[in-house]
Amino acid sequence: MTVLVIAEHDHATLKPATLNTVTAGIACASGDVHVLVAGANAAEAGKAASQVAGVAKVIVADSPSLAENLAENVAAQVLAIAKNYSHILFPSTANGKNVAPRVAALLDVAQISDITKVDSPDTFERPIYAGNAIAIVQSNDAIKVVTVRTTGFDAAAATGGSAAIETVDGVADSGKSSFVGREVTKSERPELTAAKIIVSGGRALGSAEKFQEVMAPLADKLNAGLGASRAAVDAGYAPNDWQVGQTGKIVAPQLYIAAGISGAIQHLAGMKDSKVIVAINKDEEAPIFSVADYGLVADLFTAVPELVKAL
Ligand SMILES: Cc1cc2nc3c(=O)[nH]c(=O)nc-3n(C[C@H](O)[C@H](O)[C@H](O)COP(=O)(O)OP(=O)(O)OC[C@H]3O[C@@H](n4cnc5c(N)ncnc54)[C@H](O)[C@@H]3O)c2cc1C
Repeated sequence: MTVLVIAEHDHATLKPATLNTVTAGIACASGDVHVLVAGANAAEAGKAASQVAGVAKVIVADSPSLAENLAENVAAQVLAIAKNYSHILFPSTANGKNVAPRVAALLDVAQISDITKVDSPDTFERPIYAGNAIAIVQSNDAIKVVTVRTTGFDAAAATGGSAAIETVDGVADSGKSSFVGREVTKSERPELTAAKIIVSGGRALGSAEKFQEVMAPLADKLNAGLGASRAAVDAGYAPNDWQVGQTGKIVAPQLYIAAGISGAIQHLAGMKDSKVIVAINKDEEAPIFSVADYGLVADLFTAVPELVKAL
C-alpha cells in the first residue's frame, strides 16, 4: 500500500504542514510514501520534498495551470495518478480542504476529514463537537482520501531523506476557474499555524488600539505570532485571520499566552493542544485556567507590560 501526500508549497519551499502530513502518511503506509508537488517551476519545492525523512519518491508536476493552486487543476493533477495509491493525504489547511473534497467526489469515495491519529490503515481518529469527543472512523474505500489535522502529528524531519524525483507533465487548465488576483496580508510576524510562540488577546482588550499597544510589544519580544479570540475579531480589535478556535485556526505552538480570554470551548478547540499554555485573566474562575499550565490572576493591562519589561 503506497501513500500519496499532497505537498503544500510556494513552488520554491515546502510549507511546514507538509511535514506533519508526511508523518501521518508514514503511519498509514505499509509500503512507501510518495509526495506530489503540483506547481509551476516547482523544482526547488520538489528538491525540498525529496529531503524529507521517510519519503521514497517525489512526483513534481510542472505546468502553468498549477501556478496559482486553482483547486480544479490541482484536483485533476491528483486524479491523474490517484489510482496508484491506497491513501491520498492532504494537510487540513485552506488549500488542502479546497482540493480534497473534489478528489474524493471524483473518485466516488468518502473523504475522511481532519484526522489526528491513525489507528490502522483503514481506521482513523478525528475530533468532533469542538474537540470534546473523538470519533473513530473506519473506511472500506479502496482509496482513502484523508485530510490531516497537522497539530495531531509531529513534523517529519525536513532533511535526511534522499527520495527519487520524477517529473511528470502537469495537467492542462480545466478552464473552469481562472486566477484574478490575490491580496496577501504582509506581516513580519510568524504565521499563526507555523509559529512556535503565540500571544493571543481577547475581548478584554477593549479596542484595536489597546490590542496593538498591549499585545504587540509582547509578541515582538517573544518573536511570536499574534492571535485573538473570536470576540476580539468580531469587535474589530484584531483581523479575521488572527482568530484561533473552532471557526478560526487550529494551533499547537510550544507556548500559547492567552490574555483576557475567557476560554470558551470554541476557543479551547483551537489551542488546547499547545505544549505550554499561560493564561492571564482577572477572573480566577475563568475556564481558560482549566487548560492552563501557568495561570496569572491579574489585570492584563498591568501584567502584560510588566511581563514585557521583565523579558
Ligand atoms: C459556532 C461558534 C463558533 C465559535 N468559534 C470561535 C472561535 O473559533 N474562536 C473563539 O475564540 N471563539 C469562538 N466562538 C465564540 C466563543 O463562544 C466565545 O464567545 C469567545 O471565545 C469569547 O471571547 P473572549 O474570551 O475574548 O471574550 P469573553 O468571553 O468576553 O471573555 C473576556 C475575558 O477577559 C477577562 N477580562 C476582562 N477584563 C480583563 C482585564 N483587564 N485583565 C484580564 N482579564 C480580563 C474576563 O474575566 C473574561 O474571562 C464561537 C462561538 C460559536 C457559537
